[in-house]
Amino acid sequence: MRTEEKNIRQILENMAKGKDSGEKLTYDRDTKSIRTNSSHHEENNAGTINLTAEDFRFAAKGVDSSGHIVITEDVIKNLTDPAEIKPVHFMCWDKGDVYSMIGVDKSQCNIHGTVRFLKEGSQESEFDIGNADDRVRIFVRHRKNRKSLPGKSTEVRGYVLENENWIETPVEVVPIEDEIFSRNIGLIETKAISSKNVALFAAGSVGSEICSALAKAGVDDFSIMDYDRLKVCNISRHSAGLPHVGRFKTKAMAQMVREISPYSRVTTSEKKICKENIQEVRQIINKADIVICTTDNRKSRLIINRECVSAGKTCIYAGLFRRAHGGQVFRVYPQISPCYQCFCMLFPEQKDQRVSNPEQARRLTYSDRPVAVEPGLANDISPISNMVTKLAIQELLKGTVTTLRSLDDDLVAPWYLWLNCRMEGTQYGDLEPLEFNLGGIHILRWYGIDAKCQPGCPVCGDFEAHLAKCAGV
Ligand SMILES: [Zn+2]
Repeated sequence: MRTEEKNIRQILENMAKGKDSGEKLTYDRDTKSIRTNSSHHEENNAGTINLTAEDFRFAAKGVDSSGHIVITEDVIKNLTDPAEIKPVHFMCWDKGDVYSMIGVDKSQCNIHGTVRFLKEGSQESEFDIGNADDRVRIFVRHRKNRKSLPGKSTEVRGYVLENENWIETPVEVVPIEDEIFSRNIGLIETKAISSKNVALFAAGSVGSEICSALAKAGVDDFSIMDYDRLKVCNISRHSAGLPHVGRFKTKAMAQMVREISPYSRVTTSEKKICKENIQEVRQIINKADIVICTTDNRKSRLIINRECVSAGKTCIYAGLFRRAHGGQVFRVYPQISPCYQCFCMLFPEQKDQRVSNPEQARRLTYSDRPVAVEPGLANDISPISNMVTKLAIQELLKGTVTTLRSLDDDLVAPWYLWLNCRMEGTQYGDLEPLEFNLGGIHILRWYGIDAKCQPGCPVCGDFEAHLAKCAGV
């Protein structure tokens, strides 16, 4: 870089920091360039404007408000050793508007930076230590009382490298751990819910919505099993967006959970739910406080049912009808309420209506036009995933004090039915329109349906013996 350019940048940097060294800059309207005071010879030329620190401070206000650095409080809290220099990674958003280090995937945070602890009263040069390719540097000075962070006792200064100059940039220290679930307080006991593990079998449209909603409620320990990869056609209904296409749905969901809470623990399995992988299924179920099954076929649901009943784990099943004209949710308390096998025996006519392959689509379509596999709108799926989430939260919060306790009296049915529309060609096609009706079966309402265990059920057939035992017979 030419010396003249260096001089100009140094003077601009001083001006930005409010230091008036007496040096002046001149802007030449004709050449649209800035020169140092020593290099210009036409001080009174109408084509030039003398720049002062005052001018720059006025202009710099706009710069200050548009760019800043966001860093988590954890990094600063844990930095107490004067010798420690911590390498960190930032995301650069909106052409340098924000440098954020809250990213969960370091491979995506491609801006290198350094956080350095400075001793109180230290006069050492702040930019001497760091990585050569750093573009962000943070300096932390704790004063007297280190505990009250990030208050006045801590001075945090940030710099961003622009055109080979370190420009001081406002730093926002964000207390993630303290604030992330602050809007849930008073409704649910976040600490109670965060100590529980949720097992999710299938991470499709319904499963991904449930996973996101539970993570937002404070669940931070998930096991997710799904062998499928995300396709472009999934995006209109899945919680993950286009950047995740090609990835395993499990991995995409794990990242989404960590984007909600970086303290989350997510283990994934990319294997199929089948007898060959039963050990893995069993391990996931044994670890779980609740199991949620949203697979698209009855065979896998029956495998999960058998294992959950055997392990005594509560499981919630969710399924959609074709074209997502409705859906159902089925909750199984092993040995207390009917299991999924009982449900299949109770309602043999309730065949799987979900369209998960082209052959089913051809059989079920009532129009001549080709039907896509699993058609359905995201907003028609949301009521189903919402109900599963509600049921799951109630289960996870059992035994805790919560204002949601009243829902225990409402959510007692083993089977819930929801209809999005009066789909022609189905048993619900002739329902009375919703209009102003309060009674009867209508669309867009939940219906809790009672069901009884089947004594002959091969999975939970000892139900009668269990009842007798409970009754002391
Ligand atoms: Zn059963």
